[in-house]
Amino acid sequence: MHRLLRPGLALLLLVAPGLAQDRPPTPEAHLGYRPGADFQLVAWPAVVDFFKKVDATSDRVHVQTLGESTEGRPFVVAVVSSPGTIRDLDRFKTFQRRLSHPDPANDDAADAELVGGSKPVVLITCSIHSTETASTFMAMELLHELATRDDAATREILDGAILLLVPSVNPDGVDKVKSWYDRSKGRPWEGSGMVELYHKYAGHDTNRDWFALNLQETRLLTRLLYREWFPTITYDVHQMGSTGARLFVPPFFDPINPNLDPRIHQSIAMLGAHMAADLAVAGKRGILTGALYDNWWNGGNRTTPQRHNMVGLLTEAASVRMASPIFLTPEGLGGAGRGFRDHRPAVNFPDPWPGGWWRLRDIVDYELICARSALTLAARYREHFQRQYLALSRDAIRKGRDEPPFAWVVPPDESDPARVALLVRTLHDTGIEVKRATTGFRAGGASYPAGTYVLPAAQPYRAHLKDMMERQDYPERLGADGEAEPPYDVAGWTLPLLFNVRTAAIADRLTAPLEPVEAVADPAGTAWPDAGDADYLVIPNRANSDARLRAILADDPDVRLVRSPVTIGDVTIPAGAILVPKSARRVTLRVLGTAPAVVGITPRRGRLVLPGPGALVRLRPTRIGVYQPWVPSMDEGWTRLVLENAGLVFATLHNADIRAGDLKARVDTIVLPSVSPATLSDGYAPGETEPAYTGGLGREGAEALGAFVRAGGTLVCLETSSRWAIRELGLPVTEVLGGLKSSEFYCPGSILRAEVDPRPEGEGVPLLTAGVPESVPVYFDRSLAFEVPRGGDGQVALRYAEHHPLLSGWLLGASKLQGKAALVEVPLGAGQVVLFAFPPQHRGQTHGTFRLLYNALLRGGTAPAE
Ligand SMILES: [Zn+2]
Repeated sequence: MHRLLRPGLALLLLVAPGLAQDRPPTPEAHLGYRPGADFQLVAWPAVVDFFKKVDATSDRVHVQTLGESTEGRPFVVAVVSSPGTIRDLDRFKTFQRRLSHPDPANDDAADAELVGGSKPVVLITCSIHSTETASTFMAMELLHELATRDDAATREILDGAILLLVPSVNPDGVDKVKSWYDRSKGRPWEGSGMVELYHKYAGHDTNRDWFALNLQETRLLTRLLYREWFPTITYDVHQMGSTGARLFVPPFFDPINPNLDPRIHQSIAMLGAHMAADLAVAGKRGILTGALYDNWWNGGNRTTPQRHNMVGLLTEAASVRMASPIFLTPEGLGGAGRGFRDHRPAVNFPDPWPGGWWRLRDIVDYELICARSALTLAARYREHFQRQYLALSRDAIRKGRDEPPFAWVVPPDESDPARVALLVRTLHDTGIEVKRATTGFRAGGASYPAGTYVLPAAQPYRAHLKDMMERQDYPERLGADGEAEPPYDVAGWTLPLLFNVRTAAIADRLTAPLEPVEAVADPAGTAWPDAGDADYLVIPNRANSDARLRAILADDPDVRLVRSPVTIGDVTIPAGAILVPKSARRVTLRVLGTAPAVVGITPRRGRLVLPGPGALVRLRPTRIGVYQPWVPSMDEGWTRLVLENAGLVFATLHNADIRAGDLKARVDTIVLPSVSPATLSDGYAPGETEPAYTGGLGREGAEALGAFVRAGGTLVCLETSSRWAIRELGLPVTEVLGGLKSSEFYCPGSILRAEVDPRPEGEGVPLLTAGVPESVPVYFDRSLAFEVPRGGDGQVALRYAEHHPLLSGWLLGASKLQGKAALVEVPLGAGQVVLFAFPPQHRGQTHGTFRLLYNALLRGGTAPAE
């Protein structure tokens, strides 16, 4: 009866607009079904529309659009509190800024006024992972409850706290998942089998971007976090696998990161315990704490705020199949390791869920309790949280003032100033205070020029800065059998190593005159110089931005790449540089309007003297193809982003394109992103997705790629795809780590040192390492290492360091990898296969190795000079 009446009520609201404007609509009236109903997902416009309707009809809600998502959808946040607070939001923002960035001149009375006048700001973020669909519905219900209810519990929240509610951190994904889900209903793959990433570039890695800011969504929310609202508490709402606990709530699992203040951990525990207690009171079973999710990693939507003195939480609910309910027998329920061995009662899992139907609505109910629980505790302990927030900021500043290192310095780097600027800007955009030396100075026994960036440790976000600048030393955690316990995500992320930018920690007190930096600008590139009657323009070709320039210049048959040092007049031009002769000026004129800043371009006059044949190679245009499997690959998405950012044009190739053969007619270079050999060969099995998308490259695809290379093409294989290529193309290269147990070798998400392999005299610089420094930090995430038989065809371009290869993270069994090949080129017919053992473009973060990828992609675009 009750259900039958609902559509009538919705109709009444539609025909009585005056009434509808007085009260916010219920989510059910707005959607036509109850949020979390079986088989129903919401489209993004309906979510935004609902938020705007509530905004228009409630004086407790203010909805703000922060900007546009990657694909142009509005990215919204609702600010929710008591009407008096909503009318005065600027004042409360100012309180948060002053608590998080305290004025050293404030006395106790001023602090007390700040603490007493403010309210804890709680940021709740939903569905950053778009297949974890419940929390966007939860957000709609939470918004409605807080906008309309007048019970004491709701009043307590409104009076004591400010909620910032983001209904989705990936609006594009809300629509992508709904669209696929609706298509999949009633088919064997209902609720799974998507054939594209639910974020254009990142897929699930949307939540790996929080210190790197590669994605538009991360940038929008980061600005809200560290420039606009400075929340006290953040809560990111997730879902996990289906067969374990019903809901994980904090505290987190070991290890903990030494840069986190103990008060952050205790506050996480306090809020988590309050959530767990409220869930138990409501009769919700299957709650797990203190397991699975560690607090070591930086880069997530909970963990990066924790280094900004914010109490960062997440919960993880057991998933359904997008919106389709699932049925679980007791035998089908189990543990998952890392503090959760099995499904029996334990002190961190006191009340196992008995099994049965599990529905989207169950998740919405659990999450709603958690959200209200966090808000209630924040409101009730208002003064505690605000006073602690201020104390955390003050103590961070004091530590930076009293304990070394007192600063980090980032000197200019002539070879790639844009990369240096990007490193500093990324830190600045995550709230780090940046200064610049106005004169040259000495520190730590070294001299630094004017213009050196200085990052003082005495700042509120010291923990984040320190965590970014120093090397991670992940604690060795082994099971009783000696096997490695994997970290939750990665073990190391040192930003200067990812960028391969020289920095230094300064243990002396700096006396250099410094100016504040409000915005980190890109270095003004050298304009194309007036070449006058110069015979050559010389481009050093060491900067990341030179890749696009090289691709453009390849249109001119007269442009040359230097393989062995040459002289022009009395000047030596190093290997790796690009020569633009007078005859090629028509291209340079065209380039003028489109090229990025060119670093160090120099006009030279004189006669060109070559040391021997092969010292110069001609550039040729390179048509690039990127393979995209139908099983969505985050690595493929990141590869696209890195190429687009570099201004390199490419085509996307699917299984059918490759299997059709005759590839050399279409492209010169094909990249296989890091995809498992099984996925490359077989893709989705029949029944796992729509028939048009099942299958992989198969034998046919392998043969087509082999023919492509023999015809002169370049096949570039990233990380695990190399395993497939070695096997399918019969390459004379052995992968040496694949069969080892984690007690023998283990290296999860760490940074290792690799070295350019020395060439025999006279061979010239290898094309793969042109413009790359001799020692280069590479990312290694359970990656590969190769052996290439001596005297064989394979040429090693890069090896893991012979001694002490670990730079940051965790490496167990280093001897298994030391001196092994990390980048190899294998000739095959008229072409070549390039095998990367590691990901040179990992999550779009490894700017220090992008150049290796560009070189590999443009490798095919060279020919011996006449
Ligand atoms: Zn998630």
